[in-house]
Amino acid sequence: MLEIRGLVKRYPGAAEPALKGIDLTVAPGEFVAVLGRSGAGKSTLIRCINRLVEPTAGTITWNGQPITGLHPRELLRVRCGIGMIFQNFNLIPRLDVLTNVIVGRMCTLALWRSLLGVFPPKLIEEAMAALERVGIAHLAHRRVEELSGGQQQRVAIARVLMQKPKMILGDEPVSSLDPVTARAILDFLKELNETAGITMILNLHDVALAKAYATRIVGLARGMIVYDGPPEGVTDDV
Ligand code: ADP
Ligand code: ADP
Repeated sequence: MLEIRGLVKRYPGAAEPALKGIDLTVAPGEFVAVLGRSGAGKSTLIRCINRLVEPTAGTITWNGQPITGLHPRELLRVRCGIGMIFQNFNLIPRLDVLTNVIVGRMCTLALWRSLLGVFPPKLIEEAMAALERVGIAHLAHRRVEELSGGQQQRVAIARVLMQKPKMILGDEPVSSLDPVTARAILDFLKELNETAGITMILNLHDVALAKAYATRIVGLARGMIVYDGPPEGVTDDV
């Protein structure tokens, strides 16, 4: 369960807060799409949840654990259960796919040690299994920079799966992909949501895609929630 209360984000020097008191509760297994015009605060909201952006005020709790107010070291541990995928994938382009996936375990700290030597076979096995799951095991030894956008997003999802996440946050995860690839990625996220029960909160930008995949839509305008309900209630001019 994710509980957001009175979340405010004011960027230094900004005339208006980017978020003006967001209240939002997300239950386990929900598939939430966040919609709104550019500048509405979607990205800020998603990034406050795991504190990639520091909230100015308000509280966020995740399974009873306060995320706001946590010491950085504790935060790392809580973040382990929350995967994040990005518009630009945020992979390490010059490294191979397998290494990028293993990085998903950074939060266990053991990886820092293994980076000095070779990866433990068990970790490699797990990473290969994650790549298998996203359908690109055959690309394990290619450099990320040689892959297409859709393949790179699959690498990013495999990396997130290494965390055994209970929730995946996506900041425009399909906005840089062509429509067919975007749907393939969303199909896969939907499958993870339905079969593994992983909660999804995705900032999607595209109303049609949001309606096709989400079970709940949160509409933002100028830092406030202006719609929160089923996809059917959303008009196309959000
Ligand atoms: P969206 O994802 O809906 O496009 P954002 O969360 O990116 O919206 O932005 C919300 C508002 O906050 C916008 O007015 C944007 O210009 C502002 N903003 C976003 N990031 C920063 C930043 N790092 N510094 C200052 N203002 C920012
Ligand atoms: P996106 O389409 O991904 O939301 P933006 O152009 O809104 O891209 O933002 C790109 C980057 O610039 C982000 O890291 C965001 O935090 C930052 N940013 C956005 N608006 C502002 C702003 N007004 N001042 C400073 N940084 C900003």
